[in-house]
Amino acid sequence: MTTSPAAAPRNASEGSGWGWGWTEKALSDDECRALGQMMPGLDADPIPIPRAYDLRLATPRIAPPPTLAAICSTEPRDRASHTYGKAFRDIVRALRLDYDHAPDLVARPRNEQDIVDVLDWASAADVAVIPYGAGSSVVGGVECRSAEHHAVVSLDLATMRDVLEVDRTSHAALIQAGAFGPELEHRLAAHGLTLRFFPQSFEFSTLGGWLATRAGGHFATGETHIDDLTEAIRAVTPRGVSESWRLPASGAGPSHDRLFLGSEGALGVITQAWMRVRPRPTHRASASLRFADVHQGFAAVRAITQSGLRPANCRLLDPAEAMLSGVGDGRAGVLVLGVESATAPVDDRLAEIVALASDFGGATTSPPGERASSRDTDDEGAATWRSAFLRMPYVRDGVARMGGIAETFETAITWDRLAELYESVREELRAAIKEVCGVDGIIACRLTHAYPDGAAPYFTVTAPAGGADQLRAWDALKVVAGDALARHSATITHHHAVGRDHRPWYDRQRSEPFGAALRAVKRELDPAGILNPGILIDP
Ligand SMILES: Cc1cc2nc3c(=O)[nH]c(=O)nc-3n(C[C@H](O)[C@H](O)[C@H](O)COP(=O)(O)OP(=O)(O)OC[C@H]3O[C@@H](n4cnc5c(N)ncnc54)[C@H](O)[C@@H]3O)c2cc1C
Repeated sequence: MTTSPAAAPRNASEGSGWGWGWTEKALSDDECRALGQMMPGLDADPIPIPRAYDLRLATPRIAPPPTLAAICSTEPRDRASHTYGKAFRDIVRALRLDYDHAPDLVARPRNEQDIVDVLDWASAADVAVIPYGAGSSVVGGVECRSAEHHAVVSLDLATMRDVLEVDRTSHAALIQAGAFGPELEHRLAAHGLTLRFFPQSFEFSTLGGWLATRAGGHFATGETHIDDLTEAIRAVTPRGVSESWRLPASGAGPSHDRLFLGSEGALGVITQAWMRVRPRPTHRASASLRFADVHQGFAAVRAITQSGLRPANCRLLDPAEAMLSGVGDGRAGVLVLGVESATAPVDDRLAEIVALASDFGGATTSPPGERASSRDTDDEGAATWRSAFLRMPYVRDGVARMGGIAETFETAITWDRLAELYESVREELRAAIKEVCGVDGIIACRLTHAYPDGAAPYFTVTAPAGGADQLRAWDALKVVAGDALARHSATITHHHAVGRDHRPWYDRQRSEPFGAALRAVKRELDPAGILNPGILIDP
């Protein structure tokens, strides 16, 4: 994972605009065609990459007041790059130059007062405000679909991205919400510290986005969510600034911070947070094991998480996922393990974990051993998995350009129900792909995070659209997936958040008294209902 500040984008417009990540890393036309050879049924040629001058956006419905003009942009490229997140549906619509939901303005606040001013103006002028980190949402979190407001402003926090203070005594750092992953890590590295929060979207996502979506990061066990690393949050709401005290823990009533963790821009704009940081690990080791029977792999992961050995990485890839990641031939699952420590060698702990996994039939693909801190010297399976993991979003965009479907969804469920969920989701999706697309697709699964009482399966669906419209086909498959999860009482999201795409299932998942409380909080903090309308509750 690079931590060079040069690797940090300055803002969302600096990425490819239409797809994931860096422009130069996107698959070339020839690489897209090569995908077509691997998956019969894809188009013969890729959809051309949109060019900035092809953008045709509606005229902005509103002009900023003179006091905010200096921080607002109506540039088509700015508005286009803030229209969508980075879900498959977003990529396809961007490729089609469909920017019907483009915000009228993009505001880039320099400080909290600018945010207060934007919210005051927007509340009075009935303008929806969409807090925007880096736009890596995969659940429609930054796309304003509501037509109820006079206009829409995307509030891009990327201009507020400093590490303001580091408390070496308490191992905490005060970080502004707009800080992108690489830059934030680079600043902490100067102090020998790290947040060690590496979601797959690390390069193109921000601290504020992680907090607002309760993102899941590097640690596959233990402190899996950003929640666990959060000490105190400061947020600007239309009703004033909310700030919690810095505390290592507190039993004083419902948690202050929990209100904003996962609030997805609907309750306030997170401006900064004190985050728990740690010394950088100096001892790391990794190993990988093959499982002929993926269910034995599940059992191994359960035993590992219940053993208290707490590997940092413990990701079980099912046979299809192992094949897509280049670490298997499609016949066996692969368990990728990693252990790390800032203080003591980890080889014994890794050996213990490997031995435990072997009891369930896991066969090591290479002997485990400790390697000093460089990732370059990872176990081969782990290294191959990691580079495929980082490349996957670019490949997904390539499949989208070739007229196919490539999308992921994720959940969490207790161990006693995992096997049944895994089998039935795959079976139902397989049938649905056949029905919707008329062809066979690939359904791959990995366990991204694991707990003593359950795990988070993450599914990837890849298929030719088979003559069906790509978007309609995916929407139909998504309903099948969401309904299957709900039937098993598995969460509609473990870490991708609710956004707009998961609302129907989220509404079923939460209790009515809780929903009523959320609506009351929204009314109180955002009386004009301008903040990210449609998120968590109806506008
Ligand atoms: C290729 C890829 C890989 C991904 N991998 C992971 C992963 O490993 N783990 C994971 O958890 N997620 C992952 N995601 C999803 C996404 O990266 C996360 O949801 C991330 O937390 C969003 O951060 P962002 O800064 O891009 O926020 P945005 O996408 O800009 O916003 C997300 C939501 O948060 C709100 N928001 C953003 N900033 C603020 C703020 N300062 N105050 C209030 N609300 C705010 C927005 O209004 C929106 O509702 C991935 C996405 C992609 C495309």
